[in-house]
Amino acid sequence: MSQLFAVIGNPIEHSRSPLIHQQFARQTGIDLVYEKLWAPIDGFEAVVREFMERGGAGMNVTVPFKLEAFDLADEHSPRAKRALAANTLVFPREPGGPIQADNTDGIGLVNDLAFHGVDISGRRVLILGAGGATRGVLEPLLERTPAELTVANRNPERAYGLVEEFADVAGDCLLSGCPLAGIEATPFDLIINATPASLTRQLPPLPEEIIGADTTAYDMAYSAEPTVFMAWAAARGASTHDGLGMLVEQAAESFSLWHGCRPDTAPVRLTLREAIARSGQDQG
Ligand code: NDP
Repeated sequence: MSQLFAVIGNPIEHSRSPLIHQQFARQTGIDLVYEKLWAPIDGFEAVVREFMERGGAGMNVTVPFKLEAFDLADEHSPRAKRALAANTLVFPREPGGPIQADNTDGIGLVNDLAFHGVDISGRRVLILGAGGATRGVLEPLLERTPAELTVANRNPERAYGLVEEFADVAGDCLLSGCPLAGIEATPFDLIINATPASLTRQLPPLPEEIIGADTTAYDMAYSAEPTVFMAWAAARGASTHDGLGMLVEQAAESFSLWHGCRPDTAPVRLTLREAIARSGQDQG
C-alpha cells in the first residue's frame, strides 16, 4: 500500500512540494501519495490529527504553521529546537507513539549554496530579515565559519535578539545585528534576502555599496522571473540565485528522514524550474 504524506499550510494551493516528492519517489522507486492540505488559521492541530488517523506517515509544514508544528510534536531534533519551528513532522507507526519534529530549511539553504559553489567560510555575510527563516538558517551558516555575519532587520530588536541567542555557536565569527536602514555601506560577499518583500515586489532600502565585484545575492523567494532583489543586485554586478534550490534541498532532507535514502536533486531542480516558467506565476 502507498505511504501517505502531505504538505500543510494556509494558503497551500501554490505549493510545489507534491511535485518535488513525487519526482523523488519515482527516482527511488518508493510508492507514496503526497497531498496538499489546507488548514484554517485556528485549525492546524485538528487537520493534522485527522491526517494521522487516515494513516499519514509524515508531513511538511509551511507558512504560517511552523511554530505550531513545533509545539504539537513530542520529540524535537536539535535543529528544530534551535529554530523553535518545524517544517517536517514524522508520525508514529503505532497509535500513541511520539510525533517527531525537524527543521530542514537551514540545511536546505547551505546545500543550495554549495550546489551553486558559493563559499561561506571566511566571508562577509549579510542576512536581511530576522523571522523564522533566518532563525532556521543561522546555525548551519555559522557552522560554515563565515568571518562576519550581520543580521539586518526592519525591527532591529529582533535582529539583536537573534544575535544574542546564537552567540554560543558564533565561534570566531563577528556576529552582529543592525536596523535594515543602517547597514554598513561596504561590500559583502554573500547577501541573503530572508524577507518576503520580493513576493510583493518590494525592495528593502539597501545601500548600493554593499554590492562588490564578487558579491553573491541570494533571495529565499523564487518566481518565474528574477525577483526585484535579484534584479537590483544583478544590475550592480552581483551573481544572483533564488530560493527554488533551497526548496528542493529542504525537501530532499525531509525525504531522507522519512525514507532513509537521499534523492538526486539536480533533475528535480530542472523539472521545477520548467513548471514554474510554464505557470509564469510568483511562487513563494
Ligand atoms: P517571517 O514572517 O517569519 O519573517 C519575515 C521577516 O522579514 C521579518 O524579519 C520582517 O521584519 C521582514 N519583512 C517582512 N516584510 C518586509 C518588507 N516588506 N521589507 C523589509 N523587511 C520585511 O517570514 P519567514 O522568515 O518565515 O520567511 C521569509 C521568506 O523566506 C519568505 O519569503 C519565505 O517564503 C521564504 N522562505 C523560503 C524557503 C525556501 O525553501 N525557498 C524556506 C523558508 C522561507 P519585521 O521583524 O520588522 O517585521
